[in-house]
Amino acid sequence: MSPLLVILAAAFGAASSAFLPRLAHRFAVGHADQPRAGCAICQRPFVPGFPGWVRAGAACSCSGGFGWTVATGATVAGLLAVVIGPSPLLPAYLLASVPAVLLAMIDLRCLRLPDRLVGAVAASAGLPLALLRPDRIVPALVAAVTVLTAYAIGVLLGGLGLGDLKLAAVLALILGFAGWPAVLVGVLAPHLIGGPIAMFLLVTGRRRVLPFGPALLVGALIGLTAA
Ligand SMILES: [Zn+2]
Repeated sequence: MSPLLVILAAAFGAASSAFLPRLAHRFAVGHADQPRAGCAICQRPFVPGFPGWVRAGAACSCSGGFGWTVATGATVAGLLAVVIGPSPLLPAYLLASVPAVLLAMIDLRCLRLPDRLVGAVAASAGLPLALLRPDRIVPALVAAVTVLTAYAIGVLLGGLGLGDLKLAAVLALILGFAGWPAVLVGVLAPHLIGGPIAMFLLVTGRRRVLPFGPALLVGALIGLTAA
């Protein structure tokens, strides 16, 4: 493990996640709704076009700090550097961690995993990984299809959403490039993390419906440690 690499990765994670609060605020809407055109708290409309989406800092000048988001982005990126090390695969995983953190923020707020962001995770990691590790394309696809099938049963039985299914398949694809141990740990870990938390919150009556996306993403990160 190179300390410099970890520091550089954490700096990337901190800098990129500083842009996420505005995106999370705009994307955290109901299933059929368009992204927010203005602030949900002070009702001020966002600037149209690109500057209205890309803003470092808090979601709106009326809202509070964004330290937690930056700290989360830095931690995730730093952990990826520790786990993957000085590998040409690291930039692909770092790139995918940006929409992944955004997905977790949105799922925690409104129980949604927007398709275009799941697609962004798939494209930002999947395409570079396929170019760097063409020998792993078939195992990665097998992992994705296997998880897709298992989660489809979970969706039919209830308890899992279609967003969970799509994200789980994409993460299995990405983990597939890292090897079968990573897939196995990455697929099991979300249930070991999410299960007890869900049980606690349901038993104590704090929440009825729980987002599973954050557990899937943390599980994938744990899965990479097995690579
Ligand atoms: Zn506002």
